[in-house]
Amino acid sequence: MNRDPGCIFCRIVAGEIPSRKAYEDDELFAFHDIAPWAPVHVLVIPKEHVASFYDVTDAHTAMLGRIMALAPRLMREHGVTGGFRTLVNTGADGRQEVPHLHVHVMGGPRPWAKG
Ligand code: AMP
Ligand code: ZN
Repeated sequence: MNRDPGCIFCRIVAGEIPSRKAYEDDELFAFHDIAPWAPVHVLVIPKEHVASFYDVTDAHTAMLGRIMALAPRLMREHGVTGGFRTLVNTGADGRQEVPHLHVHVMGGPRPWAKG
């Protein structure tokens, strides 16, 4: 599997940096954001290093579909009933800070810290 040893999210997948894990399978990993915007704020990522949404190709459609199916499941598992936001920041102008594709999934009762 393609991995970038300098990438913080690749290091989280490898267990080299601790995280609060929400889900894991062969292809995907999900963990709680360290600076949550909302009562529940999960990041869903492919285990493979894909730098951003900009780099996605037809080879990634199954993985992306699985991420989108996992998002509501994680919200249900965390007791989110009132709705949630799903966000993908892409590139510098998209304010992407960590260059490993990740989908923010944020929910829980308002007010939120951000967003
Ligand atoms: P983005 O601006 O979309 O690249 O968001 C990156 C997100 O990763 C931010 O919401 C950060 O709070 C989050 N983040 C950065 N480092 C960690 C970490 N070690 N564990 C969990 N979340 C992190
Ligand atoms: Zn990575």
